[in-house]
Amino acid sequence: MTEVGEKSHIKFDLSTPVQFVKGVGPARAEIFATLGVATVGDLLEYFPRDWNFVPEPAKIRQLQPNQTVTIIGMVESTDYQSYRRQPFFEALVSDDTGVCRIVWFHGGYLRGQLEPGQLIMLSGKVTLYKHQRQLTNPKFVLLDQDHAQSPDYFSGGVYPACKGLTSRQIKKIISRVRDATDQLIPEFYDRPFLERAGLIGRKDAFAWIHMPPDEQTLAQAKRRLKYDELFLMQLGLALRRYKVQHFSSAAPCECSDEIDSRIRRRFPFLLTEDQNDCIAEIVADMGKREPMNRLLQGDVGSGKTVVALYAALLAVANKTQVAIMAPTEILAGQHFLSIERYLNDSNVTRRLLTGGLTGRQRNEALKAVGSGATDIVVGTVALLQADVAFKELGLVIIDEQHKFGVEQRAELRKQVTPHCLVMTATPIPRTLAMTAFGDLDVSVIRHSPPGRGAVVTRWVSPHDRQKAYAFIRERLKAKKQAYFVYPRITAVEQAGDVKAATDEWECLSTKVLPEFTVELLHGQMPSAKKQQIMSEFRKGKVDVLVSTVVVEVGVDVPNATVMVIEGADRFGLAQLHQLRGRIGRSEAKSYCLLFAQTDNETAKSRLEIMTRSNDGFEIAEHDLRLRGPGEMLSTRQHGLPDLKIASIVDDFELLVMARKNAFELVSEDPMLRRAEHKDIRTALLAKFGDAIGLADVA
Ligand code: ADP
Ligand code: MG
Repeated sequence: MTEVGEKSHIKFDLSTPVQFVKGVGPARAEIFATLGVATVGDLLEYFPRDWNFVPEPAKIRQLQPNQTVTIIGMVESTDYQSYRRQPFFEALVSDDTGVCRIVWFHGGYLRGQLEPGQLIMLSGKVTLYKHQRQLTNPKFVLLDQDHAQSPDYFSGGVYPACKGLTSRQIKKIISRVRDATDQLIPEFYDRPFLERAGLIGRKDAFAWIHMPPDEQTLAQAKRRLKYDELFLMQLGLALRRYKVQHFSSAAPCECSDEIDSRIRRRFPFLLTEDQNDCIAEIVADMGKREPMNRLLQGDVGSGKTVVALYAALLAVANKTQVAIMAPTEILAGQHFLSIERYLNDSNVTRRLLTGGLTGRQRNEALKAVGSGATDIVVGTVALLQADVAFKELGLVIIDEQHKFGVEQRAELRKQVTPHCLVMTATPIPRTLAMTAFGDLDVSVIRHSPPGRGAVVTRWVSPHDRQKAYAFIRERLKAKKQAYFVYPRITAVEQAGDVKAATDEWECLSTKVLPEFTVELLHGQMPSAKKQQIMSEFRKGKVDVLVSTVVVEVGVDVPNATVMVIEGADRFGLAQLHQLRGRIGRSEAKSYCLLFAQTDNETAKSRLEIMTRSNDGFEIAEHDLRLRGPGEMLSTRQHGLPDLKIASIVDDFELLVMARKNAFELVSEDPMLRRAEHKDIRTALLAKFGDAIGLADVA
């Protein structure tokens, strides 16, 4: 095979293995593989991490004093004047227009390095000496024949290097590929669109990202490539959604006035406007044969359960079954309890199906599910395992809690295609809603139900601890209850600074709050004991509940209006907000006290945001910013292709535009069959593989 870069009659394309590029070969190909570069196309997408801008080489005759210039010429002569008070090394360099004197003070080290006949490139400032132009102390590089053609030596991209491949080597290899691939890079969009969107051509973008002539061009190149990357990602999501909607069908669920009022009678309160809006969206979705694919998001305690239960009862009213799935068995148990509250005396049959069942109980449960005798089954994702067969599954409700992601959802989709409602326990930032959850329609509960007292949050430093305890005593005397939350059960590591719940419980009950009933609850207790303590707390027999986060109980005890979070600097923002959601559940004012001492700036910002805001959406945005896109938005973790140049946080405007256009394209030409979409389709397949099922409709 001919090597890429020998401008002969090369036959290769973007999918050619990088090994065949001139200067690569098998050994370097292996190193490239560790950088995620396998093909010529990957090489083009191996973007610089930084850029240098050096002026175009100038001709010697045109040099003006005080200009910063780059020149290329031949070394004519050299001389070291060591006898001077200030010794200097002098060279005369010529090009086809003139001769220039170059001076390096104290340049003795240059003897033996610079010799007549060498090609040299210099960069520095022009000065006048006795009416002659000269460069003083310039940067320089000796050029071999190869470099003579590339005055770009000092400028252009700086690449993320690794052992065995320097940035400069990568740059050289990429520059070869760039020359040769120019004709291979397809344009995705037509002129009018590019003009409207203010985007430059794709080919230019690839040329300039590696070797931009100036900052402005670089910015344009980045913008175009970021857009394409986001566009392809959104296109993948749009197609995934399209496939679910059009290649599978669910049982349409009709909602009559009679059904509606029958369901609403279950709730001991009027639904909020937000809840009603979400329900309307869900009802519209479920009325269709196309499966619903909706994300329901709202803050802790905003009333999502009620909305989800409405959907469940609608499915049941339409003679279908419902599966409610949580990430863990504990959470499944909580969901079961919370729907039990509403379904107390109803005819709807429901069942908790978890690993705790005996073999016989499980068999019996499976039979009931299989025969259709059970209407609502609550459990973990294991519910979708092969041995759980439903008679007629109409709706799946998934409490996601950030734990699944696009790919897992697609996996679930393969097994069942009923209506699907995904819930998130914490509000998700808009960027995440458009990416990790980007294949879903979104319903939002923004305002919590009425009757919620304000929650005042304070950051308590160690010297205010006693004052805080005094305050808590007052609240307890007024017959309110309190939670104390600790990061760990026993202080195994970092014993010095992590307050262990167990130790602290002893201290609280014997020294700090001896006149009150203080109980400990943690994940390793027998479940019967846990139940008992919870129920006593609910009844008000226990004043203070000391717990670890392990027990992220979805407890609903409105009379508990105080929460102390010990070592609050160790908790993430989402978790703090989640915990705080347990108070503020009655009209009375609630207090969240964050006990923390820290010098960590990020931890401090988290605590500050908590004291400032009760808005879950605002907190989620801050969280994203503080944690950075890396952790929270690792696209791979969510089953999306990695982003090489765009950032969903920083390029939000582009993301919005890309999303809109991608979804429009799919509605126009769902399988991208039209000739003008061929290149987009090819690029998409290269990115997603067949995860979106494009290949089967080739
Ligand atoms: P989420 O699931 O979003 O955390 P829930 O559905 O569990 O919220 O509701 C939290 C609390 O608010 C529950 O005690 C519930 O009974 C109550 N609630 C929900 N909707 C309303 C409403 N419209 N009016 C009054 N209380 C409500
Ligand atoms: Mg809930």
